[in-house]
Amino acid sequence: MHLFKGKIVKYGITHKIRGMAQDDQFKKLVSHCKEYGFIFQSSEIYDGLSATYDYGPYGVELKNNIKQYWWKSMVQMHENIVGLDAAIFMHPSTWKASGHVDAFNDPMLDNKDSKKRYRADQLLEGYMEKLELKINKEVKKAKKRFGDAFNEEEFRSTNPRVLANAEKHETVRVELATAMTNGDMEALGALIEKYEIKCEISGTANWTEVRQFNLMFSTQLGNIAGSESKLYLRPETAQGIFVNFLNVQKSTRQKLPFGIAQIGKAFRNEIVARQFIFRMREFEQMEMQFFIKPGTQKEWYEYWKTKRLDWHKALGTSPDKLRYHDHDNLAHYADAAVDIEFEFPFGFRELEGIHSRTDFDLTEHQKLSGKKMQYFDPVTQESYVPYVVETSIGCDRMFLAMMGNALQEETVPDAKGNDSTRTVLKLHPALAPVKCAVLPLVKNKEVLTDKAKEVYNKLTASFNCQYDEKDAIGRRYRRQDAIGTPYCVTVDFESLDDNMVTIRERDSLKQERVPIDKVRGIVLEGIDMGSLF
Ligand code: ATP
Repeated sequence: MHLFKGKIVKYGITHKIRGMAQDDQFKKLVSHCKEYGFIFQSSEIYDGLSATYDYGPYGVELKNNIKQYWWKSMVQMHENIVGLDAAIFMHPSTWKASGHVDAFNDPMLDNKDSKKRYRADQLLEGYMEKLELKINKEVKKAKKRFGDAFNEEEFRSTNPRVLANAEKHETVRVELATAMTNGDMEALGALIEKYEIKCEISGTANWTEVRQFNLMFSTQLGNIAGSESKLYLRPETAQGIFVNFLNVQKSTRQKLPFGIAQIGKAFRNEIVARQFIFRMREFEQMEMQFFIKPGTQKEWYEYWKTKRLDWHKALGTSPDKLRYHDHDNLAHYADAAVDIEFEFPFGFRELEGIHSRTDFDLTEHQKLSGKKMQYFDPVTQESYVPYVVETSIGCDRMFLAMMGNALQEETVPDAKGNDSTRTVLKLHPALAPVKCAVLPLVKNKEVLTDKAKEVYNKLTASFNCQYDEKDAIGRRYRRQDAIGTPYCVTVDFESLDDNMVTIRERDSLKQERVPIDKVRGIVLEGIDMGSLF
């Protein structure tokens, strides 16, 4: 996250170091989202509902643009990937077949003193993160001490304190992975005891035993009584794709390999839901299941791993904010899995998952439904259940990543040439909620506002525009900077005579006088999503 970090000079603008702690950066980001109408707490007038959020006027635009970027690159730019919009409710057998009824659990425990609930695996991961922090602190100290002569690699492989912590880290990692893979709740409890992990509220280690907690929300179907009526809110969109695999394949006459993509809501009763929109109970996924010939899964897994990382980098996200993380313990359906992690203000966390799901889902649906889920291969003249490689990204996490990446505070020269601070959201123009703001220089001159409205009306059919006449022009620029508008067009008295306006570019602050007829083309070129592919 480069929010408020570093000191770079670009286009003659000084980006100031604010030296903000990561916690403060995050708080600033959350309050910016609220103040500028990106995200509100759900049901705020009733003190909110935990881990649920509403997207405001600018939030919904940004989210739609993220979805459009994904849809274009995954569906419209692949002739062998098609879209789907399946229902949220599905036949309850779906979740039995997929394994979610029996195995979609997280290990949960409570602290008896604070009554606070935790996920056992996250407590142990937190412990590992602390060990990592200790190592990094040691390295930082040595770097300072030795200056240019410092050899980090050598230090990491020889310093006894670093080595001891690295060894401990590896031991915990293996112990955690083993316990999780075996679904061994007792072992998890024993690890928490062994490493003397304490509750952050009460400071005690007075824990309940660790038990499995199913993450699916359930509800009742209206007209049927008893257990038959139990419905689940889907915890992933993928199953809607699996059960429609043959419908889609036959109706679109696709041949393997081909993919089905979907964007939609998913619901999980997360035990610990915090960190704003990073972990919610109702969220949105963008998933693609790629159906392939058995035996080719390794090659397609590698393909999608690279392709998806490139998708993130194309937005200008610095490569050192992104990394792969191989799964230590695989889900019940996978033979390989990797996360693309992003450096959020609270550390590197999963943004997207790429999973080689084998033929697990289709085979299980075939067994439980009694319907064949096989593909007839016209080349080999054989029928078989395809293998699947999945790419799955949370739309909300992508939103958070983009906002965190974009929010900056910098020192810029004001109208008189003095230093002034501006908060600017440097979103990629293709993602920006408002593409162009049209501003009359002053508001109380009707000739000017009429002219500005004329310009505005010419542009609204082409992209999202905003007309604003309130406050001084400088303040209006600042407000557009804060919501990430890449272009501002100012209409002044000269515009009445020469039909020219001033177009100001958000990042460079460059101002140029252009004919009104050229504005549409300039903005369209600057916001073109095509430049990302
Ligand atoms: P985590 O380990 O963080 O709980 P996961 O491995 O369970 O995530 P997947 O099942 O792989 O997540 O889901 C695919 C994507 O959906 C994730 O990469 C993430 O971006 C998003 N996602 C999952 N759970 C949530 C949630 N509770 N809130 C927001 N996004 C989520």
